[in-house]
Amino acid sequence: MSKFLSARFSGLEAYVPGEQPQDMQYVKLNTNESPFPPAPAVLEAVSAAEVSRLNLYPDPEGRALREALARHYEVKVENVFLANGSDELLNFFFMTFCDEERPVAFPEVSYGFYPVYANLYRLPFRAVPLRAEFRLEPEDYCGIGSNIVIANPNAPTGRIIGVNEIERIVRSNSDHVVLIDEAYIDFGGESCLPLVEKYDNLLVCQTFSKFRSLAGGRLGFAIGSPALIEDLDIIKYSTNSYNINRLTMAAAVATVESDEYYRENSRIIQSNRAYTVEALEKLGFETLPSMANFIFTRSSRVDGGRLYRTLKARGVLVRHWDKPSIADWCRVTIGSREQMDVFLAKVREILEEVG
Ligand code: PMP
Repeated sequence: MSKFLSARFSGLEAYVPGEQPQDMQYVKLNTNESPFPPAPAVLEAVSAAEVSRLNLYPDPEGRALREALARHYEVKVENVFLANGSDELLNFFFMTFCDEERPVAFPEVSYGFYPVYANLYRLPFRAVPLRAEFRLEPEDYCGIGSNIVIANPNAPTGRIIGVNEIERIVRSNSDHVVLIDEAYIDFGGESCLPLVEKYDNLLVCQTFSKFRSLAGGRLGFAIGSPALIEDLDIIKYSTNSYNINRLTMAAAVATVESDEYYRENSRIIQSNRAYTVEALEKLGFETLPSMANFIFTRSSRVDGGRLYRTLKARGVLVRHWDKPSIADWCRVTIGSREQMDVFLAKVREILEEVG
């Protein structure tokens, strides 16, 4: 740290992204990417012709992509906001809607970026404990008197709550903004997007990084009332008006139009999820019910940290956190059947060695 860093940031604990090793090939099950490449139409959309236009700025309004999303989700263009990954969307949410008078609440075990943004903006925040077995109790958020962020399905647990439960939370907090982070909704869950036209305090955020195989393109979006989108626009145009680059914009339009390809991939991932959970159960693992493209699992025979380290030494990357309440557990992305078979084979080996 230099002596020039603003005192505002001196104590800040930055978010630590999952490892993205560039040195060796791993079976990479640590950051919930899709094992499938983008759809063929996406490869065509990022054409030499599009590359040759990189001398020109992209459309700051992202009109073509917002129109494609609006058609797809049967909302208006004015309901759609684009961001450079849903991480940027979260950043905008915290900056736009939260302050000393409007604090924010989120589950204590959830996406690690939420407290980082809260601290970045020096917001008072409440980390609401989950209940037994990492269940999120909607009652804990009803009338809570602050803005709310909930990942649904939650990460890293994979657990989901129902649309009716989200509706209760949104309805009982009509003076605050509720952000539902649906990064993992397309792996069997039901989206709460239909609630957007009923509630002007609901913002639903999704990403192209998981279901839509575009993590490297960095694209997230939010759907909400036109007034909320206008608020987000104020912050976007005050920080980075060209936040979505030209190539990602072209790739994303083709992505939205290739929905069936991604739905089929999701069906395969859901089937691989059931296969992996069953195989782990036979090995004595306890796995939480997951509606995401990952599972949260633990074994009484090998603790989470050791399992993570030993798997890594054998070429399989999963995610582990030292945080005491989840230190026993590992989060494992669901990849292709071949990747899951390698993972399971290494787990079997490790269990045999620990005896
Ligand atoms: N929300 C949740 C719950 C996540 O797990 C992630 C990915 N780590 C994100 C948002 C951010 O995803 P991205 O910025 O790639 O859209």
